[in-house]
Amino acid sequence: MLSADFPAKPVHALSPASLTAGALPLSHPIAVTPAPPPVAQPSPTEVATAGLAPYRSPRAAYVHVPFCRHRCGYCDFTLVANRDDLVDRYLAALARELAELPAPHPVETLFLGGGTPSHLPPPALDRLLQLLRHWLPLVPGGEWTLEANPLDLLSPQRIALLAGAGVNRISLGVQSFDPLVLRQLERDHTVPEVIEAVAATRAAIPNVAFDLIFGVPGQALASWNATLDQALALEPQHLSTYGLTIERGTSFYARHSRGELLTPPEELEREMYQLACDRLPAAGLVQYELSNFARPGRESRHNLVYWAAHPCLAFGPGAVRYVGGVREMGHRSTVTWLKRLEQGLSGRTFREELAPLARAQEALLVGLRRLAGIDSRQFLGDFGLTPEQAAGDALTRMEQRGLLHQTPTGWALTTEGRFLADLVAVELAPAE
Ligand code: SF4
Repeated sequence: MLSADFPAKPVHALSPASLTAGALPLSHPIAVTPAPPPVAQPSPTEVATAGLAPYRSPRAAYVHVPFCRHRCGYCDFTLVANRDDLVDRYLAALARELAELPAPHPVETLFLGGGTPSHLPPPALDRLLQLLRHWLPLVPGGEWTLEANPLDLLSPQRIALLAGAGVNRISLGVQSFDPLVLRQLERDHTVPEVIEAVAATRAAIPNVAFDLIFGVPGQALASWNATLDQALALEPQHLSTYGLTIERGTSFYARHSRGELLTPPEELEREMYQLACDRLPAAGLVQYELSNFARPGRESRHNLVYWAAHPCLAFGPGAVRYVGGVREMGHRSTVTWLKRLEQGLSGRTFREELAPLARAQEALLVGLRRLAGIDSRQFLGDFGLTPEQAAGDALTRMEQRGLLHQTPTGWALTTEGRFLADLVAVELAPAE
């Protein structure tokens, strides 16, 4: 399919436009759910004294590392493939961007995404980790995640560097345990390499998360089921399941346009998603977001910051920061981004300031991705508005259509609403 249906990329990789319509799952017929219990409404005092979370100092940071061996056919992330000659300049530019901070900024969550951060040669990886330990020190008990390619973690040197620097969570780009699907996705690792990398990583960093992709051209339900089997056998702490989307500008898009790449029917994708939603919780991985499942206490604390629309620092090309209701993004071209920093300019070339109502509306949109939904009192405390004030009558309209329901504390998607979350997103999207 050609539009963003099931989310196909991690939340930090979503562009500002992706935060509105289209970042959520696909449309299906609508079912009606029973009438819900009444929602506890905040008191007038709570309304008057609400603090605004978007103004608080960020306690989370994202760093984009844009290097990969090659570009996979479906990937439209900000990256440079086979350009390791740029690594030194990237590290120097990143150091300049970090030095824009008035002082080292302690964080509770630090997420290194890409690209493939683990791809950096060990000496460069060491420099990156030491740079971040200086500028973005992790508070005790904090979460430091690094996205990794299984092949890179076959290197004991890299694992020792990561563990020694304090990285305590690895997000592994497994994608599939079916060799044919891996080949279709143009991934450069094999299934035995994944198994070996998981064992090697776990010995030093026990908290390992997997990313898996479904809805791949040619992928059958049985293949997806077998991938879930093998993933569960390795007992990850966290699992993300992304539906493949074919993005404009990728080689998959060109092949799809020429009729060379047939995407699975929507009904099959829904079955695959449903299979994950059934099987993973049965194996102890609780679904806490549309695409994310975790053992209790192992939810991604960093991504929870995004889904709460709380502030987050970001550094690197294409990285989106959100502080004080202002969203800024680093230039998406790695070369342009680093040249700008070399010239003493800011690497960030996109900026938008959201009005208070738009901030609350956007928070509603992303917050409903969590299965627990929106807590009305928390929402009021964070944004100074109730969900009803932020959304007008859209919440009750979605409720009447069976896509949202009221919980004892606020609002959440119904089961059907999880399949139709893109439709809910359109209805709740802030007006242009
Ligand atoms: S490894 Fe990941 S980031 Fe790199 S090209 Fe492939 S999908 Fe994109």
